[in-house]
Amino acid sequence: MHSAQRILQTVFGYSDFRNNQAAVIRHMIQGNDALVLMPTGGGKSLCFQIPAMVREGVGIVVSPLIALMQDQVDALLQLGVKAALLNSSLDAKSAIEVEERLLNGELDLLYVAPERLLTPKFLQLIKQVKIALFAIDEAHCVSQWGHDFRPEYIQLSVLHEQFPNVPRIALTATADESTKREMIEKLGLASARQFISSFDRPNIRYTIVPKQNSRQQLLDFLEENHKGDAGIIYCLSRKKVEELSEWLVEKGWDALPYHAGLSTAVRQKNQRRFIREEGCIIVATVAFGMGIDKPNVRFVAHLNLPKSMEGYYQETGRAGRDGLPANAWLAYGVTDVVILRQMLGDSEATEQRKRVERSKLDALVGFCETTLCRRLVLLNYFGEHFQAPCQNCDNCLQPVATWDGKIAAQMALSCVYRTGQRFGIKHLIDVLLGKNTPQIERFDHDKVSTFGIGKAHSQSEWQSIFRQLITANLLTVDVDGFGSVRLTQKSAPILRGQETIAFRKDPEKSRRKSKSSEKKEQKHRAIPNDSLWQALKNKRLELAREQEVPPYVIFHDSSLIEIHEKKPKTLQEFAEISGVGQSKLKRYGAVFIKLMREALSLSTS
Ligand code: ADP
Ligand code: ZN
Repeated sequence: MHSAQRILQTVFGYSDFRNNQAAVIRHMIQGNDALVLMPTGGGKSLCFQIPAMVREGVGIVVSPLIALMQDQVDALLQLGVKAALLNSSLDAKSAIEVEERLLNGELDLLYVAPERLLTPKFLQLIKQVKIALFAIDEAHCVSQWGHDFRPEYIQLSVLHEQFPNVPRIALTATADESTKREMIEKLGLASARQFISSFDRPNIRYTIVPKQNSRQQLLDFLEENHKGDAGIIYCLSRKKVEELSEWLVEKGWDALPYHAGLSTAVRQKNQRRFIREEGCIIVATVAFGMGIDKPNVRFVAHLNLPKSMEGYYQETGRAGRDGLPANAWLAYGVTDVVILRQMLGDSEATEQRKRVERSKLDALVGFCETTLCRRLVLLNYFGEHFQAPCQNCDNCLQPVATWDGKIAAQMALSCVYRTGQRFGIKHLIDVLLGKNTPQIERFDHDKVSTFGIGKAHSQSEWQSIFRQLITANLLTVDVDGFGSVRLTQKSAPILRGQETIAFRKDPEKSRRKSKSSEKKEQKHRAIPNDSLWQALKNKRLELAREQEVPPYVIFHDSSLIEIHEKKPKTLQEFAEISGVGQSKLKRYGAVFIKLMREALSLSTS
């Protein structure tokens, strides 16, 4: 363990272990098996990298994605670690070179694609060398139910059979019970010790806004919080992705589209720009994200509702892997709920499956409508029970008022009933507000008893009321026809006044900020924004381009922020920066000290 601590400091440049890292590393060094569940950004990589370096032999890392492997190996090479990879991106000559280095015992870590690992030739090859451990990264890929399923992962049980004495560690950020069970069963990890961390991501701020004009709302959000930042915006359809990214470009943002309908070349190009440059925004369908471990994604925005809490957690989890403040922002409207419910109804799945999916969607809708701390609701869903509100979500920062909706709900439901359960929300609101539209005239709806009884509420309040009645399943919408709204079994007790309902008071267009939330805001914005910061980022980008690696492989934002703050002027001071180990000190110390000296003499002269 002594040597693990030394490697942490001298190679990685970090002072302390995080989360369960120390326990996992000790367990692995002793030669045991482990299953590690840790959230994104929790620090899983060190859990196998350090034991592989401490133990005799090479650590073999199975990883499902080529881009991810390349990034990890690039980062290790920067740290002076003897690492290499073997996958289909390598030409034959380079692959042979890697194999030779492997046979000569020159590698501490070898990353391989699962299909390569499973070839008889490769298995034969590694039988000739000493293996420190097998690490199975993104181990949830064994799950046939998950959307990252990789058939080759199931065959990874051969490792256990053919190398019974080599310790194995499986890691993932997917934490639900059924996936966990599948990993244990398929990878033969029944006797592995489990290391489970909290799945809270305290640096992510959750915000959910009711959709009004979602593009404008998005733009306001970006302008207020994310000028020059990298981020991901999720939309439901390819068409929306195209339209929105074009629109953002028109508005002066560096936005790129990504969806399965684009050619591989375009997708690769856009992904590469997102990773290699600073401040790109990717507008994407859910096809984007797996295997992106860019640490400084500062926001994830959703313009459509994901399908479940799991999806929401996974997608928003791509923000702020570096632990610095990040935003998860979702604009949510009743149409999303209606469409998703309809899609579920129409799908070919079994009734049982549909029931599961419906309840998953309902949980997410409940999360959107909640007036409680979002983080508490989210973690509670995943089985973690916290007590104290987080003070880093919209509901904590700007508590939501509720109001007694008994009368309004009765008016709305009764209006649906009186007009024959054949009309859409827009028309129903017109009736409640007593408007004179051609449609009202045509159907004589100025004669129904609910005509004009709702004038105490505005149009947008009624929209909010109908949304909440629909999300609470007090009304359903038929999307096949004309969006007619119908009563449900749950409507009757409300109509009869036997049950009451509390509505959430939706925020005004932009909520006025209280003094205390402004203070919290300042704390949230820990990232500097001056000329020195720009100079540091430019230097990092220049170094990254020279070596054809992403900027964060040179230094993470957190290291750059520390440099900005502590202004090191000697190599000794530079070595104190978190993320600066011996190798980076040697490579970049002088360059950055020179930059600091120049910047400081400029600012004082
Ligand atoms: P994960 O794979 O769990 O998403 P990573 O292994 O990529 O997370 O680590 C996330 C970030 O945290 C990386 O930038 C990593 O360098 C950093 N990190 C990991 N462990 C530590 C530590 N003990 N101290 C400081 N930073 C750490
Ligand atoms: Zn909260």
